[in-house]
Amino acid sequence: MEKRVRLRFAPSPTGGLHMGGVRTALFNYLFAKKHGGDFILRIEDTDQTRYVNGAEEYIINALKWCGIEPNEGVGFGDGPHKPYRQSERKELGIYKKYADKLLEGGHAYYAFDTAEELDAMRKRLEAAKVAAPQYNSVSRQNMRNSLTLSEDEVKKMLEDGTPYVIRLKVPRNEEIRFHDVIRGWVVVNSSQVDDKVLLKSDGMPTYHLAHIVDDIEMQISHAVRGEEWLPSAPAHILIYRYLGLEADMPKLAHLPLILRPDGQGKLSKRDKSGLPMFPLDWHDERTGESYVGYRESGFFPEAFVNMLALLGWNPGDNREIMEKAELIENFSFERVNKSGAKFDPDKTKWFNQQYLRKHTDEELANALMPTLEKNNVKADKKFVVEFCRLIKEKAHFINEFYDLGTYFFTAPTTWDEKVITKKWNDTSKVTYTKLNKKLAATSDWTHTGIQKIFDDAGVELGKLDMQLVRVLVSGVAGGPQLFDMMALLGKEECTKRISTALNALK
Ligand code: GLU
Repeated sequence: MEKRVRLRFAPSPTGGLHMGGVRTALFNYLFAKKHGGDFILRIEDTDQTRYVNGAEEYIINALKWCGIEPNEGVGFGDGPHKPYRQSERKELGIYKKYADKLLEGGHAYYAFDTAEELDAMRKRLEAAKVAAPQYNSVSRQNMRNSLTLSEDEVKKMLEDGTPYVIRLKVPRNEEIRFHDVIRGWVVVNSSQVDDKVLLKSDGMPTYHLAHIVDDIEMQISHAVRGEEWLPSAPAHILIYRYLGLEADMPKLAHLPLILRPDGQGKLSKRDKSGLPMFPLDWHDERTGESYVGYRESGFFPEAFVNMLALLGWNPGDNREIMEKAELIENFSFERVNKSGAKFDPDKTKWFNQQYLRKHTDEELANALMPTLEKNNVKADKKFVVEFCRLIKEKAHFINEFYDLGTYFFTAPTTWDEKVITKKWNDTSKVTYTKLNKKLAATSDWTHTGIQKIFDDAGVELGKLDMQLVRVLVSGVAGGPQLFDMMALLGKEECTKRISTALNALK
């Protein structure tokens, strides 16, 4: 029988969740939803030395903002497999139980080596020109573990409370084959795999053991995670095998890396492409570093999620704008690429622009109101709605609206110097004073009405310079369609602004 589809996102609370982590969560979520399955948030906090305050809360808030909501897990309500924090699961004794099973089967052993001894081993191997020094089937023979020490010695050390770790006994020169949903069959020789630490004396498991125990106990059907875990997967296969659980293990999927915009290497959280690397603002208490978030930079969560979905996946055609429901309907691991996906900052802004345009002018106006209030702008709602209609064509973000169109609310006191230097001449004052009179005299102050005045005036006054008129009215060289802009500002305001400008210019 096919297993129920159950996927988990299993971050470690070692810092803010960066966008790569959000993408992992998203792909898990999309697949789970597509198959009517469960999506679980599990917090992998076994490495207490790397625990960062606030990280867990950040992860929960980031998932909420993105609308990637687990139906089970830390911060989202308990399900049948609580608790969902590994530090709490340790209390259940499950990790120890599985480690004991491996010990009993002769597939794991105690190792008592101190940090100094491990360091000396590494130096020895380096001196012997071993390319990748590791604790393995060869080097373990010279170390202090239950494979080299006598049974009595081991017993005594355990009784004395000598610190130890339990290591996986990886065989020498065996072929390990496993299937990855994205990469196909992967074959690795066991000589490349080290004897991973599974559990420490305080009973705390490492990631390698803990995630396997939890995936089994939580009946996970697919383990979907970043490519950085691919090298550890052969060891994981052995653990499942030695536990007698290989047939029950989740299907594996390793997601491709997200690359820097220039394709040169992995995207780092300190990337300088100008766009955020984190979904929400993140401040790391430990390092004092602060990072800006997509949310605080004015992105719509839908745009951020849409962009992330296409980082390494495609729907099989050239569709780009896809909201969550459509992503769910179309998602499959078969369409996830094996090779890295380049992060594209311009495209990311473009996505936001597309989502901006999906909003009604009314909605945009509501979102803009707080900014206007903050700037002490008093404008009636109808005016603001109309302003949004015009200005949105020029913007990627709502938070650009006010800066792009401040002149809609405040008359200019300076006029774009470049345009003036280039276009203002001896006859300008006379020409545009006449134009302004005609504007003042009209009773049809609409786009077409204003257009007609310009057409008629052009015949009488010669060619009028639209950009110059724009600068007289707004102070700046570019903006929404001129007649639309003038229609919204109103006749009185426009003619007043033009005469102020004409008086100020020599
Ligand atoms: N705790 C691991 C991480 O943060 C999870 C890897 C996995 O999903 O198995 O990368």
